[in-house]
Amino acid sequence: MTAHSAIAIDPTPAPVNLLGLDRAGMVALFASLGEPRYRAEQVMKWIYHRHETDFAAMTDLGKALRAKLEAACVVTPPKILFDKPSADGTHKWLLGMDGGNAIETVFIPDKGRGTLCVSSQVGCAMACTFCSTGTQGFNRNLTVAEIVGQVWIAAKHLGNIPHRQRKLTNVVMMGMGEPLMNFDNVVPAMSVMRDDLGFGLANKRVTLSTSGLVPMIDKLGEVADVSLAISLHAPTDALRSSLVPLNKKYPIEQLLASCLRYAQRKPRTSITFEYTLMKGINDQPEHARGLAKLMRGFNAKLQRENAAKVNLIPFNPFPGTGYTRPPEEDIRQFQTLLMHSQVLTTVRRTRGDDIDAACGQLKGRVLDRGGRQARFNRTLAAHTAGNTLAGAGQPSEHQPGDVDAAA
Ligand code: SAH
Ligand code: SF4
Repeated sequence: MTAHSAIAIDPTPAPVNLLGLDRAGMVALFASLGEPRYRAEQVMKWIYHRHETDFAAMTDLGKALRAKLEAACVVTPPKILFDKPSADGTHKWLLGMDGGNAIETVFIPDKGRGTLCVSSQVGCAMACTFCSTGTQGFNRNLTVAEIVGQVWIAAKHLGNIPHRQRKLTNVVMMGMGEPLMNFDNVVPAMSVMRDDLGFGLANKRVTLSTSGLVPMIDKLGEVADVSLAISLHAPTDALRSSLVPLNKKYPIEQLLASCLRYAQRKPRTSITFEYTLMKGINDQPEHARGLAKLMRGFNAKLQRENAAKVNLIPFNPFPGTGYTRPPEEDIRQFQTLLMHSQVLTTVRRTRGDDIDAACGQLKGRVLDRGGRQARFNRTLAAHTAGNTLAGAGQPSEHQPGDVDAAA
């Protein structure tokens, strides 16, 4: 075949995965196919309310449209590699990505609500020292279809139908990855979660958790109305920078200022501050007092009690970490100190222990591009049982699988 004839071949464009489009994207795609808006909406209902992936089964569309869709589109969720229920109702999925990568998604039912913990990246580059994903380094951002696909898989498994059979009531972007580093894909994915023709979740029931990318928090405030959770973990810059390296770029004062701007957009908005408690690191009374002062200052600026909520997360250990979880008594004391300072404080109850579905325990599989995983593994091998790695500047990230639960 000559080079010329190769150019002449018109390759069939790759089919569009409809899980990668929010409502605006669907309407635009259907317009390009010469189809009206209501057809796009009809197909969304098939996908998200009836969990249908086969256009042939979408019987009310008409033959011609079904043929068009079959030629140009697909509805392809991520591949389930592994699917594991836990005794307490928690359910974990290991989902295969390209090239041997894998991510995790966890469903946690609790007292009339069901929360899905969704990943935004394969790995994470933020290198927080107490988080297991970070030890695996970073590979890439997830696409919109891969983020929406996680929710779709859980919704189908649960038989969730928005407004009728509500099994999935909350989504937290607290799985693998830093969602604000994947802003352009996370925002449309959250739009499908909140769309009545999508998963139909109320705005405040979709939560984005961030380690504190200040400019992107402001950008989020401009385009989306979702609940915001901030991974704070320390009351001072010196301590926070040692746990969350990003703090060196965006210190606490700047971070809290951006949270204030986010909360000021709408009356009654509150911000959750996550605080992973690590024994002997950030769990002392002086830390609780420092945190209480920051939170009270935040409430005062918004002139509202409980504008800031603290969610304490007892550290979840993972192989190779040097951090440990404080004793239950210290966790209670930390909470009590905050509550006595009029700071609304909950303790996150770990769920899915028997399937390693807790915060910082989700593993996935990351083909690291930066060598962090190899460095961590080398250090792990060099330190035989008992030695700590956390002090050795090991990066890590997290992946959670548990939800807020009032203590
Ligand atoms: N990257 C985002 C979202 C995912 S992390 C963020 O950092 O906010 C979700 C939460 O789990 C964060 O608050 C994170 O700090 C916390 N976390 C990470 N590793 C943990 C561990 N080993 N034990 C307890 N919480 C952890
Ligand atoms: Fe990334 Fe983990 Fe830090 Fe979150 S806690 S930003 S997932 S390293």
